[in-house]
Amino acid sequence: MRTPLVAGNWKMNGSRASVKELINGVVDGAKAINGVEIAVCPPFIFIADVAAATQGSNVAVGSQDVSTELKGAFTGETSIEMIKDFGCKYAIVGHSERRTLYGESDEIVAEKFTVVKNAGVIPVFCIGETLQEREQGVTEEVCARQIDAVFAAQGDNAFEGSVIAYEPVWAIGTGKTASPEQAQAVHAFIRAHIAKRNADIAEKVQILYGGSMNPANARELMGQTDIDGGLIGGASLKADDFLAVCAAGQ
Ligand code: PEP
Repeated sequence: MRTPLVAGNWKMNGSRASVKELINGVVDGAKAINGVEIAVCPPFIFIADVAAATQGSNVAVGSQDVSTELKGAFTGETSIEMIKDFGCKYAIVGHSERRTLYGESDEIVAEKFTVVKNAGVIPVFCIGETLQEREQGVTEEVCARQIDAVFAAQGDNAFEGSVIAYEPVWAIGTGKTASPEQAQAVHAFIRAHIAKRNADIAEKVQILYGGSMNPANARELMGQTDIDGGLIGGASLKADDFLAVCAAGQ
């Protein structure tokens, strides 16, 4: 039995004041939610404030990205040890915005995955196809290729203690959601693909859905056999909406 995880990806949004209000609302509302793991991933600069506000609560903190490098002359980068030092339990790697806007290849994402995992932080590994790829019928091929880059870097047990987020690129921030059946089909494929390497890990790994998940569609999506929660963008920026998504996972 997998515990659902609902993680908010705040992307590059908020001010110091608005983030304080948002996290206080989430922490407060999360007290009433049981049986669901909850996390928020703020912009780096707000992680310290958010970590302080979540202390002793059932809301964990994650980063939205990480450097492939461990320390040194890499201007603008943030290392996994810094992320860990500020109490992050999770680090998102391979978000489609990083892949498409910042040119992160499957290999770079796999390197980041390795850095996160080796530090004892939980990678939230994002994969998913573009609209064009879906229309070409290569969704499974794309997801398999993205996953296989991590297997190549980390071996058969790569996904032990990690989280996968299936996020069809065409559904991110567009208001278009994969139907529960479409999403379930890909989630089942992902789990089966991992099972070819290690069935026990495949059974345990949390596979989140991401792509315009909101309070109206969360329950049905998370009700699917292989959907173990959500990675939430837009709807994580309002405490009430985010908490409603979290509650739908109960
Ligand atoms: C995301 O960026 O991870 C995401 C799922 O965004 P949204 O919920 O806004 O589609």
